[in-house]
Amino acid sequence: MAEAVLSEEQLSRNLDAVIQRIEDARIKVDEHHIVKLVVVSKYTALKNVRTLYELGQRAFGENQVQQLAQRMEETEDLPLEWHMIGRLQKNKINKLIDLNPFLLQSLDSLELAEALHKRLEAKESHMDCLLQINSAREESKAGVDPEEAVQTYREIRERFSRIRLRGVMTIGAHTEERDPIRQSFETTRKIFDELQGEGAEICSMGMSGDFELAIECGSNMVRIGSALFREG
Ligand SMILES: *Cc1c(COP(=O)(O)O)cnc(C)c1O
Repeated sequence: MAEAVLSEEQLSRNLDAVIQRIEDARIKVDEHHIVKLVVVSKYTALKNVRTLYELGQRAFGENQVQQLAQRMEETEDLPLEWHMIGRLQKNKINKLIDLNPFLLQSLDSLELAEALHKRLEAKESHMDCLLQINSAREESKAGVDPEEAVQTYREIRERFSRIRLRGVMTIGAHTEERDPIRQSFETTRKIFDELQGEGAEICSMGMSGDFELAIECGSNMVRIGSALFREG
């Protein structure tokens, strides 16, 4: 991965452009519909995170526990909010609990929830999480099947009190076509709607290539990396 350090002017331009696009998309839904931007920093140099902080950005995401740990340590002096957005291996659970991220967005199975709950209990800790949904039913992707999502969410809430479920997360269908992507977002949105009153406040969907569509389908949290770190 290229880890180019971008100028403040470049990052400012990219951030403004992304925020404007989020703004335009959310206004079309409802002027009261608020969308939060989580900057995915996994492909970029640490310096760019610091510059984005100076430009006003507070929420950042990483997809590996090791990288998350390093980034959190390197930005200890800043009041940032860190999200874990990638697959969590069982042998990294303790490490993640010690890091105490703002949100684990990628809780992707009942089995992982059980393992996480046990470690949280042992450490007398809690964690805010989103249930990841494999909304396009792709082999390569993590997450619970849409048909089982509501039941799994409820079961986690009932059985694993150390886990605080705050909503759902999905990655849109892996294709250039808009219809399957829209469908995967709508599937997730329906699940989110069913869980109203059960702690579900966050519907995290949308990345660089599809965030406007995701917002149109009801996303209130977008995770954006590459669109922010391009040059020119
Ligand atoms: C990398 C990643 C993103 C951001 O992807 P971009 O296309 O670079 O915006 C969002 N969500 C998850 C889970 C990711 O792994």
